[in-house]
Amino acid sequence: MQHKVTVERNSLRFSAGHFATYEGDCEPLHGHNYDVIVEVEGDLTEDSWVIDFRLLKQIVRALCKPLDHRFILQRNSAVLSIGENGDYWEIAFGDRRYVMPKSDVCALPIDNSTAERLAEWLCLRIKDALAGAGATNVMSITVGIEEAPGQAGWCTLTL
Ligand SMILES: [Zn+2]
Repeated sequence: MQHKVTVERNSLRFSAGHFATYEGDCEPLHGHNYDVIVEVEGDLTEDSWVIDFRLLKQIVRALCKPLDHRFILQRNSAVLSIGENGDYWEIAFGDRRYVMPKSDVCALPIDNSTAERLAEWLCLRIKDALAGAGATNVMSITVGIEEAPGQAGWCTLTL
């Protein structure tokens, strides 16, 4: 028998700008109102919980907060040229140049700001947070990042 809980949308969202790269090209700068969907599967505790909804929502909300109203920078991009200059990020792709104050940017250790990679990044952070909260019964974590209604990237982490 398998049990899981899900939390999604409502307060679990963030609005952010980005440009993903693909096949040697780079999207124009744009943004999304991202919705976040999280599924946690695990054994039931003695009290018949997989995980307390409130705790899970708290964790996800806290992790999304630094992304909200920021530009998401794929710090480990192999395609973009990214440099730091004091309080600014300097980002270049071909003839395009962007200089952004660091306060407006959330730089993540990912190679591309696709919904799939954002889901993976969040999945790994949730795993650490649940472990930190002592949740030893969790067997898998799935995160969906919905860029637009009906368009989402997913990642599942099996523990
Ligand atoms: Zn996009």
